[in-house]
Amino acid sequence: MREAVFSSTGFRIRAARPTAAADPVAGWAERVAASLFFTFFPADCRICEAPLIQISRLPVCENCLHEPRRLGGSLCAVCGEACDFPADLEAAAGLCRLCRKAHPPFERAVAYGSYDGALRDLIHMLKFDQVHPVAPVLGRMLADAITTLEASLPPGVISVVPVPLFSKKKAQRGFNQAEVIARAALKHMSRPERFELVVRGFARLRDTGSQIGLSRHQRRKNLRGAFAVTGSTAIMERNILLVDDVYTTGATASECARVLGRAGAGRVWVATVGRTLRMFDTAAIDAAIGEDLPEEQGQDENREGRGSEERVAIRARTA
Ligand SMILES: [Zn+2]
Ligand SMILES: [Zn+2]
Repeated sequence: MREAVFSSTGFRIRAARPTAAADPVAGWAERVAASLFFTFFPADCRICEAPLIQISRLPVCENCLHEPRRLGGSLCAVCGEACDFPADLEAAAGLCRLCRKAHPPFERAVAYGSYDGALRDLIHMLKFDQVHPVAPVLGRMLADAITTLEASLPPGVISVVPVPLFSKKKAQRGFNQAEVIARAALKHMSRPERFELVVRGFARLRDTGSQIGLSRHQRRKNLRGAFAVTGSTAIMERNILLVDDVYTTGATASECARVLGRAGAGRVWVATVGRTLRMFDTAAIDAAIGEDLPEEQGQDENREGRGSEERVAIRARTA
């Protein structure tokens, strides 16, 4: 069986090149393998529906794999929010208005890309469709985000703590996506000895449910008491890198950082694959102070996102 390979220089996926031409038996085997493969795997890109021309364990085309771009431009030096007013950021030591109002309980949050388009679809493929071959792609993006933090991390071993899922939810899904992505990311770190993955000792004690429609204050209240340090020497007095798939309003990251800090952890940094960007104009900045953006759990409930709806619509039209 041919295996897709993730190259070491990017997200490009390539199937092993057939060496069948010189060997008719091997050529036959290749064709059988390929036909079996297409029996079990969709022949269209799961994101844009373009026909897949290469065999891959990941049913996503090259264009969609290369669509997510690293966040650039003027970003808040603390929470990583994009700001369309560089002068405004500079005047406030690089902080967005929310972080100027109150510094979050973590040192700094970074994300690889904007949580929309193909990046959102890739994250959903892992979380909701259990397409595990997408994990190395997301892991590489998370590793990229962590690398931008590395210079500011203190010396010593950093505990990498995935945001935990409620145990029942983890059992239903079969895995915690934050943990799976973190594992994949750590394989790409230039100094892996600096990081220790810690998946025990920090727990989500209850299902925090959907946070759609909750105000910032209500969201904080909803998360209060949801997380607890249940005892780990790798958390106490350790500096922490909290990792998750998506940073939305920062309510989850803030609550985790607060609980970890109160339990005796050192300083907390945050890295995610995606980030919801919302502050592109003054009205949005003003609204963000008391906005009603869906929180991470809300998006779990809202799994049929915009992209999926569009795909359903496309299928309906072409059926
Ligand atoms: Zn595609
Ligand atoms: Zn900020």
